[in-house]
Amino acid sequence: MTKYCLHCGSALGIDCGDAEPDFNDDFCSNICYQKGINKSKFTDMQLMMFADGELNDRELSMDIISALIKGDKELKGRLDVFVKTSTLLRSLLTKEEDI
Ligand SMILES: [Zn+2]
Repeated sequence: MTKYCLHCGSALGIDCGDAEPDFNDDFCSNICYQKGINKSKFTDMQLMMFADGELNDRELSMDIISALIKGDKELKGRLDVFVKTSTLLRSLLTKEEDI
């Protein structure tokens, strides 16, 4: 099974643009590793839906939850924004409904 660098997408175990040996199982080089770990794997849209309880992707929800449990502060910060925004939007948009 061919694995690909999570950052640049080049095939691992073969080569990389920088012609370095693979950094690890997920990244082809140290540069990609540094960039890759700083890039969250969750999109704003996914976090927004998660905050709203509308993310109909059980596996992804579990990924988000486990990242939060592991103490991903960056993720928690992003999620907090959506939770607040979502509550605010809901209170503005729903006048009659009890939620
Ligand atoms: Zn790479």
